[in-house]
Amino acid sequence: MTKPEYEAYQKAVAAFFEREGLANLSSITDTEGNCESFFSWRPCECCGDPLGGDRERCNGYAPVTKEIKEFTVCMDCVYYAEYGQLDDTTMLAIERSQSLKPYRFSFFSHDVRQVWIRFYRIDMESALEDCKKVALRENPDACAFMIESDQDDLAVRQSWGLDR
Ligand SMILES: [Zn+2]
Repeated sequence: MTKPEYEAYQKAVAAFFEREGLANLSSITDTEGNCESFFSWRPCECCGDPLGGDRERCNGYAPVTKEIKEFTVCMDCVYYAEYGQLDDTTMLAIERSQSLKPYRFSFFSHDVRQVWIRFYRIDMESALEDCKKVALRENPDACAFMIESDQDDLAVRQSWGLDR
């Protein structure tokens, strides 16, 4: 799952809560406290995921109408309703897909351009700091360098003088 997909997922779940007027959503358990999951081809009633998969029966309380409503939802939604986020592995994958981007940076020394490609977190501050360190370590005579990224949301092409 990518960051935009996760945001779309969150929106779908929020819209479901709003539409149904729910204050909560919890798995329905048997007398021993267990909840049973089963396979279904029917879309998840919460996020609308159309793919077949494991489902659980859940209920939620709607304060305005004072109703307890029942739904069949996917395992992601069971987890999300309980913890406010998806499982750790999924969250880590979302974070990775978002935070590391390729940057090309170069510095000039004696008219020779040296090019490096590194992966940085999205914020330019840390990218810039790291570039400076590498440029100075690799060549103390480095006089300028630039960071370029042609990621759609980050058209960056700037150059800085190294103040030493
Ligand atoms: Zn779902």
